[in-house]
Amino acid sequence: MKRVSILGATGSIGQSTVDLIRRHPERYDVAALTGGRNIAQLAKDAVALNADVAVTAHDDLLDELRRALAGRDIEVAAGQAALTEAATRPADWIMSAIVGVAGLAPGLAAVERGGILALANKESLVTAGPLLLRRAAEAGATILPVDSEHSGIFQALRGENPDEVERVIITASGGAFRDSPLSDLGHVTVAEASAHPNWDMGQRITIDSASMFNKAMEIIETKEFFGFTPEQIEVLIHPESIVHAVVGFRDGGLMAHMGAPDMRHAIGYALNWPERRDLPVERLSLSRLGTLTFREADPVRYKALRLARTVMDLGGLSGAVFNAAKERALDHFLNGHIGFLEMSDLVEGTLDSILSGDGLIDAEITLETVGHADHVTREQLDVMVRRRAG
Ligand code: NAD
Ligand code: MG
Repeated sequence: MKRVSILGATGSIGQSTVDLIRRHPERYDVAALTGGRNIAQLAKDAVALNADVAVTAHDDLLDELRRALAGRDIEVAAGQAALTEAATRPADWIMSAIVGVAGLAPGLAAVERGGILALANKESLVTAGPLLLRRAAEAGATILPVDSEHSGIFQALRGENPDEVERVIITASGGAFRDSPLSDLGHVTVAEASAHPNWDMGQRITIDSASMFNKAMEIIETKEFFGFTPEQIEVLIHPESIVHAVVGFRDGGLMAHMGAPDMRHAIGYALNWPERRDLPVERLSLSRLGTLTFREADPVRYKALRLARTVMDLGGLSGAVFNAAKERALDHFLNGHIGFLEMSDLVEGTLDSILSGDGLIDAEITLETVGHADHVTREQLDVMVRRRAG
């Protein structure tokens, strides 16, 4: 039996993970499930998977969780410390699928116990990649990428010498507005930005796909996880979302990873690694698809992609600043305070102002310095939003 835990079990990635685990009760023994406000889902899955412990991130929901699991032999807990404690419970495999920088501390705690961390939470690589990888190496833990592009790169690299890689291409669907003229984007609504043409994902990453902040994060994630230089990493718009990533070798050969746009492939690959096992994903008919198209990701249209390059050049805590700024800008867009295109303007303005400030970028990356950078960045972005309103 493989002992597994899921951090962020009630989200989009979490639910796909629950689905795969539920299909094979004979293979898995579930240690911890964590969630946020969706207590009914958390309790239902904790019962279905017979988890040892269910944890909500919110202290005020502890009683509700306790009631939902009354009479069951399942421990309940709440709050940030409980979340981190759940991540350190012995397990062979832990899914890191909390959204946002909130996933960093539990992810770090999880690698310290060794074993495998299946990493969907890209924010932990963007904000603190060197720290996470170092802690994993020290503890003998293995990190397996779960983002579809990074799982694709990882699979294309299997058995290859990374020194023989010339370039990598990650694809982007282009999100909800890929065919809309730039002049229309100032007035789009939250509902319009939340509709993804190909993938069914959480709301935040779906809007990040439309703004290309998701791809910006993924470029940085590629650099941090695989150690490629920024110049080696390319982005192409690929509206069909069938080719997830391409690795180009020095002899000109390209290895593409293809599959249906279903995160259960990347999750299942990480769950079964180093083996491959049957997965309940669609088998593609390439003849029915007929054509796959690719086009340049317009650097004028997508400011987020340009900002990712700046962040990679700067290094240090600039990833933490970038992530916090884009998370906070998204909060303001969701609340109706700012327009869609203002998100990237505000992230750029915040990066500039923090960079010209107090030497934050050069500080060593620790959980504390990332937390500090995150905090001051959010405050700075709020100041800019207020200035715009006034
Ligand atoms: P989601 O919003 O659907 O789910 C997020 C999960 O995190 C939920 O369980 C929620 O309860 C929990 N959570 C939210 N805030 C929390 C907090 N402050 N503390 C603790 N838990 C909290 O998100 P998602 O789309 O499943 O994405 C999860 C992660 O996976 C993100 O980092 C995202 O970028 C990455 N990812 C997602 C997809 C996808 O298809 N959804 C693909 C690639 C990568
Ligand atoms: Mg992705």
